[in-house]
Amino acid sequence: MKILNVHAHYDDFELTAGGTFEMWRRALGPQLSARVLVCTDGAAGHHCRTRQETAAVRFAEQAESAKIGRYEFELLKFPDGRPIPEGGILDRPFLAALWKAIREFEPDYLFCPPLPTDPLMGVHTDHLTVAEAVRRVAYLINVPHAFSDIYPTDESHSEPVKTPVIFNVYDGYMFGANQYDLAVDVEDAFPLIAACAYCHRSQFQEWIPWIGRHEIRGPTTIEEWSEALRRRMARQRQDMRVGGDRALEFFTATAWGAAPTMEGLERDFPSLCRTHSRLGALGEKLSRWGVL
Ligand SMILES: [Zn+2]
Repeated sequence: MKILNVHAHYDDFELTAGGTFEMWRRALGPQLSARVLVCTDGAAGHHCRTRQETAAVRFAEQAESAKIGRYEFELLKFPDGRPIPEGGILDRPFLAALWKAIREFEPDYLFCPPLPTDPLMGVHTDHLTVAEAVRRVAYLINVPHAFSDIYPTDESHSEPVKTPVIFNVYDGYMFGANQYDLAVDVEDAFPLIAACAYCHRSQFQEWIPWIGRHEIRGPTTIEEWSEALRRRMARQRQDMRVGGDRALEFFTATAWGAAPTMEGLERDFPSLCRTHSRLGALGEKLSRWGVL
């Protein structure tokens, strides 16, 4: 089983799918291969560090999180090796780099940010770019020479490449307009999620309190940070109109890649919360896509 998280920034993984990846790892042990692909270089978004310094600090923070969370971490780069800046680039080299990264790993499941369905909602341009890029590249994953002009290969021989089932994660920038099909109970993984996310000190302790957008007041200890994370998860549950106080992560099925099946999802997803997952509505959606 291979699972891949594709998101814009350092820290996005921990706040949207980190618990699910951990529950999956606990269920499958060495049978699971988990990878996190970060699609921007993290140079933007600090009030007193240079771009170069910020990018280096953020890379090290994600590497520290990967060590604690026991997942592979890869930073996406343009085909010529340049880092990808924040600010929403969606061009052919970006799609080519994403195509190659997904084909090389061949995930069974891919998790990425959603596209807004309500044009009145705010967005983060990088989240939007990654969502749009995954959607656009999804069909091309198994198209052999889609980008072989950029990544030269033997064009006279091609092996099929697995197309993953693609899920959207929760997006805090779209508060009020998120949807979901599956709720995963990640309560048992909460201490690990907190420890991984706490690695991103240049964000949660420095930059995010400075910008004041996310109701986080610079935590100085892991205990303070865990409380802030609990409040953040409570807001997510409120957005999804879900009660209780257990830590949950939310996912929406898409038909961007391979079509999911109910049987496959119920077999593969760890710690599926049957109380809050919308399996009936998901079944109807899958039947509209022609699969059950
Ligand atoms: Zn982000």
